Amino acid sequence: MTDVLIPTPREAFEMLLAGNQRFVAGSPKHPNQNAARRTEVVPSQNPFAVLFGCSDSRLAAEIIFDRGLGDLFVVRTAGHVMGPEVLGSIEYGVGVLGCPLVVVLGHDSCGAVAATRAAVANGTAADGYVRDVIERVTPSVLAARAAGHTEDADFIAEHTRHTVDLLLARSRTLAEAVDAGRAAVVGLSYRLVDGTAHLVTARGLDVPAVTAS
Ligand SMILES: [Zn+2]
Repeated sequence: MTDVLIPTPREAFEMLLAGNQRFVAGSPKHPNQNAARRTEVVPSQNPFAVLFGCSDSRLAAEIIFDRGLGDLFVVRTAGHVMGPEVLGSIEYGVGVLGCPLVVVLGHDSCGAVAATRAAVANGTAADGYVRDVIERVTPSVLAARAAGHTEDADFIAEHTRHTVDLLLARSRTLAEAVDAGRAAVVGLSYRLVDGTAHLVTARGLDVPAVTAS
C-alpha cells in the first residue's frame, strides 16, 4: 500500500450516489471496466466502499452503482443476513483495505423479507438452511410488526436499519472506525422499478434522515 488517496466517507458516499444516478438516468459510464484498469489493479486493491447487500439477482452491485474493477468490496447474502464470515469479510474491507464507507443495501420485493413475514404470520418454518436466513430476518420483521407497519417499504427500511445497527453492535473494528471518523455506515433501500437507491439511515455521516419511500 503506497501513496493511495483514500476518499473521505462523504466523498465515497457521493461517488456511490453519482454512479447510481448515472445508472438511473440510463447514461452509465462503465468506469474502470477496461483492460487498462484490469492491469492497474493487479498489484493491489483499494475499493472505496464495502457493499453488503441482498443476493437478489436484480441488485448487481457494479451495475446499479455504475462502477468497475477495484471499486467495491462486495459481500452479499440472501436478505443481507450476517454470520461470522460476513462480519469477517466486512472487517477485512474496513480494517485491512481501509474502505471509508460500508453500505447496507436492502430492496423492495425482497424474497427473504417476504418469506420471513409469511413464516412469522403463519408460524411456519422453512427447510434446510433457508430456515437460518429466515431466523436472522425475524427480529426485523417482529420489530416492524410491533411498530404497526404493514407496508413492504416499511419492513424493508426496518430490516435495513436493523442490519446497520447489528453490524455496529457486533463489529468492534467497524464501530471504532466510525467513532474515529475513518468510516461511515449507510443503509440504502433500492427500488427495482426505477433503479434508485434511497438513504434509510446513516452512522458517522452527517446527512439528513430520510425514510424509504
Ligand atoms: Zn432480497
